[in-house]
Amino acid sequence: MSEHLLSIEGLHAGYDGVAVVRDLNLFVDAGEVVALLGPNGAGKTTTLMTISGMVQRLAGSVAIDGQTVPRLRQAHKVRRWGVLHVPENRGILFQLTVRENLELAKTSGKVDIDIALEFFPALGPLMNRKGGLLSGGEQQMLALGRAIAAEPKLLMVDEMSLGLAPKIYEDLMPVVRRVADETNAGVLLVEQHVDLALEVADRGYVLSHGDLALSGTAAELLADRHVLDASYLGVESLED
Ligand code: ATP
Repeated sequence: MSEHLLSIEGLHAGYDGVAVVRDLNLFVDAGEVVALLGPNGAGKTTTLMTISGMVQRLAGSVAIDGQTVPRLRQAHKVRRWGVLHVPENRGILFQLTVRENLELAKTSGKVDIDIALEFFPALGPLMNRKGGLLSGGEQQMLALGRAIAAEPKLLMVDEMSLGLAPKIYEDLMPVVRRVADETNAGVLLVEQHVDLALEVADRGYVLSHGDLALSGTAAELLADRHVLDASYLGVESLED
């Protein structure tokens, strides 16, 4: 059995029996930040949703901490195993206060709001504010804080920067690194801002039209910039 925190082998994932992600092999270790990159429609969100059990995989295996995730959709079970997914839309409940949103992190009778505040002190004065009245950046802090409060083994973050001003997401990105360093969680980060993601990541995978085009350490991917860019453009041959 694999020693990795998350281990994906030969994953085919998609909708109505049609694969939009094919034969993906990927792993994430505890304490690691791994970037999942690629252009629009490459299959990044589908991959995260398949790992978290919201989309049923078509073939292949997904194991978390050595436990095989059943093929049938099992989002609740996967969450109980410590996989927390911050989706693109952030999943904030607008009618609930910040505190109530954070309490939704409760998975087994325990929620540590203090951990969320340690990572995002700016949420402190906002505790009684309704989720719907927060700015985009505050909502993203709340979404991340709520996931962190559940003390995840694996934190998956989809397009953290979406709709935010550069100053806001540039400040948020290093927090993801801190989560891995300080809590030993593994982090799988889907991000359009490649350079920013690779600045905080240990390794990265690049999907192109559902296929794995490239993978390597963050330093390797940044050093081979033209190869990385070619994979974004879906260029068949990545050789010079
Ligand atoms: P983006 O950054 O645009 O979200 P992505 O890399 O996350 O891109 P996905 O959202 O995973 O890509 O989409 C991969 C493919 O699956 C696309 O062709 C998309 O149209 C298709 N797709 C996504 N969601 C569904 C769905 N619910 N039903 C059918 N097809 C879908």
